[in-house]
Amino acid sequence: MSKLLIVGTVAFDAIETPFGKTDKILGGAATYISLSASQFGVKSGIVSVVGGDFPKAYLEKLNAKNINTDGIEIVEAGKTFFWKGKYHNDLNTRDTLITDLNVLAEFKPVVPKKFIDTDFLMLGNLHPAVQMEVIKQIPNRPKLVVLDTMNFWMDNTLPELIEVIAKIDVITINDEEARQLSGEYSLVRAAQKIHEMGPKYVVIKKGEHGALLFNDGNVFFAPALPLEEVFDPTGAGDTFAGGFIGHIARTGDISFENMKRAVISGSNLASFCVEKFGTERMENLTFEEIQERLLQFKLLTQFEIELS
Ligand code: AMP
Repeated sequence: MSKLLIVGTVAFDAIETPFGKTDKILGGAATYISLSASQFGVKSGIVSVVGGDFPKAYLEKLNAKNINTDGIEIVEAGKTFFWKGKYHNDLNTRDTLITDLNVLAEFKPVVPKKFIDTDFLMLGNLHPAVQMEVIKQIPNRPKLVVLDTMNFWMDNTLPELIEVIAKIDVITINDEEARQLSGEYSLVRAAQKIHEMGPKYVVIKKGEHGALLFNDGNVFFAPALPLEEVFDPTGAGDTFAGGFIGHIARTGDISFENMKRAVISGSNLASFCVEKFGTERMENLTFEEIQERLLQFKLLTQFEIELS
């Protein structure tokens, strides 16, 4: 069975959408990625940090999904990373109201021994210096290294982010972040510029408008499933990344053809994530529901046309 190591925030989130608001609930990039990847039956572990205020019950929730949390350091005297966001009425855009790094500010990651030989590495959203440190602790290069990041790190730690981007195979970012990183408005040009920074594969997420996969002049588009109800988009990007790497880790195939299926898997899982507040939907998802929706994706995108 393939091993997957996931790095990213494990957090408290406070979310406000047009449909309601929550106080501090379980969140974080690594949380969403791991819950999503756990659907593929791979052996996964998280490297992250939390404070003494982080409920043990949350770690147990992850363990119950076969997610190893030995690499989540608990700083008893510290406070867990906290993020607060408010969505606009279109649910496609949001404002970050608070980012409290707390224990993340001083975090020195340690990859647990049993994940040093990981087959796949998912560098989820967090400080690029931490992402780089994890790469350094893995002596044999994994089959595929995927990185996700966001504008916060482009604004605050750009030189370190550029350094780590040079070392990875696949980057997943949203359209606005791709524009910010590349300085190009056209997403095709943005992807070209980002290729030149290192990654052979560039995945640009466009929220409810799907995702684009670029590689060496090839482009593939995966739609997002048109949903009747979207409740809370928090974590959709991370869930997409978890579905992407989960599919790759389960199949062990890193060809472009298989990455197309991985992008569909990512879109499929993200479509569930947004249906409930926080991680709730991802915690209760079944294999049958995932399969059923994969069929909907197929029907949504398949067509016959005669070329004259
Ligand atoms: P997404 O909606 O996929 O962009 O991810 C939302 C998750 O990212 C939330 O659960 C937050 O805890 C986490 N998050 C927000 N800001 C940051 C940041 N600057 N670095 C790492 N994780 C973050």
